[in-house]
Amino acid sequence: MSMKHLIKIMIAIGSAVLAGACSNSGQNAQNDFKYTIDSFADLKVMRYQIPGWENLSLQQKEYAFHLSEAAKYGRDILWDQNCKDNLRVRHALEAILETQVKDSPEWKDFLVYAKRVFFSNGIHHHYAEDKIFPACPREYFASLLEGAGINDPELLDIIYDPAIYPQRRSTETSGDIVKLSAVNFYENVNRQEVEAYYAGIVDPKDPHPISYGLNTKVVKGQDGVIREFPWKIGGIYSPAIEKICEELAKAREVAENDIQKRALGLLIEYYNTGDLRKWDEFNIEWVKDTIGTVDFINGFIEDYNDPLGRKASWEGYVNIKDFEASKRTEILSANAQWFEDNSPVDPRFKKAQVKGISAKVINAVCLAGDSYPSTPIGINLPNADWIRKEHGSKSVTIANITHTYDYSSQEMPTSTLTEFAYDEKEVEMAKKWGTLADEIHTDLHECLGHGSGQLLPGVSTTAMGEYASALEEARADLFGLYYTADPKMVELGIMPDPEAYKAEYANYIRNGLMVQFTRVEFGRPNTEAHMQNRKLIAQWCYEKGAPTRVIEKKYKNGKTYFVVNDYVKLRALFAELLAEVQRIKSEGDYEAGKNLIETYAVHIDPDLHKEVLDRYKALNLKPYGGFVNPEIQPVVGDDGTVTDYVPVYTDDYLGQMLLYGKKYGTL
Ligand code: ZN
Repeated sequence: MSMKHLIKIMIAIGSAVLAGACSNSGQNAQNDFKYTIDSFADLKVMRYQIPGWENLSLQQKEYAFHLSEAAKYGRDILWDQNCKDNLRVRHALEAILETQVKDSPEWKDFLVYAKRVFFSNGIHHHYAEDKIFPACPREYFASLLEGAGINDPELLDIIYDPAIYPQRRSTETSGDIVKLSAVNFYENVNRQEVEAYYAGIVDPKDPHPISYGLNTKVVKGQDGVIREFPWKIGGIYSPAIEKICEELAKAREVAENDIQKRALGLLIEYYNTGDLRKWDEFNIEWVKDTIGTVDFINGFIEDYNDPLGRKASWEGYVNIKDFEASKRTEILSANAQWFEDNSPVDPRFKKAQVKGISAKVINAVCLAGDSYPSTPIGINLPNADWIRKEHGSKSVTIANITHTYDYSSQEMPTSTLTEFAYDEKEVEMAKKWGTLADEIHTDLHECLGHGSGQLLPGVSTTAMGEYASALEEARADLFGLYYTADPKMVELGIMPDPEAYKAEYANYIRNGLMVQFTRVEFGRPNTEAHMQNRKLIAQWCYEKGAPTRVIEKKYKNGKTYFVVNDYVKLRALFAELLAEVQRIKSEGDYEAGKNLIETYAVHIDPDLHKEVLDRYKALNLKPYGGFVNPEIQPVVGDDGTVTDYVPVYTDDYLGQMLLYGKKYGTL
């Protein structure tokens, strides 16, 4: 329900990065390897390497290969989930790109549109969720369609008419968010009907509730009856899910251990039946596998895209353990109870026993579905609260993705750090400790933050309603911020210096109060859960600390800066807010949660917003990044058997998109 991805603004650190912070990963920036391969609109595309791949056995490589194939076969599902006309648009773009090459300003505008749609897995911005429009004229687009032999007049309306599918997930809280959202989760039903439908089938007393509605579309038939149609073999998306299961079955043959075999068996069974009890059984088995080197995500996982937070988007991820870097999070994990016992929240809201937190650092092998090309840098699953409580969860940070962001920004001439940091001292501190302190905060957020605390008996896990995600992210972030500065971190050998945390504090405040607004269109409110969380924390501390100027707003050369004057008091403010957010969640105090978000997280001061956008624009950087995958290619020996699997690093973003369309297109 609430855990999920930590998506940070990686650009906040800027160009110069401590080499020492990167050496943990076993990955070194290679002079001849170019990380940034494409850039357009507000996006840049990077490619990542897979450190440790060469140390896998042939069987482990084969396992990872089939899991990657299974992941890539889910692509079309996500496209269709995001909007029911997405695949129709994509097929037209593919046909145009395969039949025509031109050299004109209009063609360049068309290419940018096509690249943006591929990046977003559909016609809406992957982050802002507003519809994307081509800069080339409609008549020009019509001529391209004609050139590709496509006769579909309605398609031009879908692409150009702002009234059709304006937002993927609607944020118009005054209207019917189910009707107004373009996502393909509901048909012919309104919000009230959906809520009544689920109120009628959810058993609030079940201690082990299934994730009702996670893998279905809700449709009201002509008879007026509301029904759910599952995404499964023999149901919706059957051709894609059949291919996924074929590859999962091949993977199962070469799995590393029996737990993985059992887990894959259950996942295949779930895809065949659509039975959410099987999904839970799969997750319980999946959580147990902490000894394997290769791991994966495959399924309908996160509910961010559903306006009602119930339907999950399809997602795939294959990764291998980074043994060296995992040591850090293993130490945190081993000390989980100490952190729980010493946190500044009311003892009634603490877990007597923190259980099953398995933390590790991984390197991505394949990104797919909702994790491709834009991807999280940390994962915390499964999402079902009762499974997390009784069986634990897996929490990972993804080293090669984080480091690729760093290496990529080193390739850029300017940085947000030098622009938004107040003085040279702050820049130096960030350069010295910023990357490492930020990674440690991420570890704390993922390994301990989400797993901390407990609800009072009788409090519903859904009590926070539409504010749940932002508040949960705030809770995890605050837990991490509080402990980033704790002497215990130095004692445990995780933090190298008692002052290093200051780099993360300064960075967090700068980001929460300014830098992150580069991602919000002028005049729009701050709506994304992770961004609301950061704004809430930074704004709240700024206002509460105002009497003693804990954080000070300063001006220099007509520019605004936020400077942390007192790090010790700032930590005390983090502690105070953590205690309050935990109280709100534990008691199910919806009104207080709503009030926090509405007061501190949503509104952006228009003057500051404009200034931030102008300053950022002048830097000429891209606010969003995404990745192409290495192609894992089998090497076939003379006798026809596969002797190896090697990653091949493409530098052709559009080429990979077209390849995937051909190779993994199913719907
Ligand atoms: Zn999180």
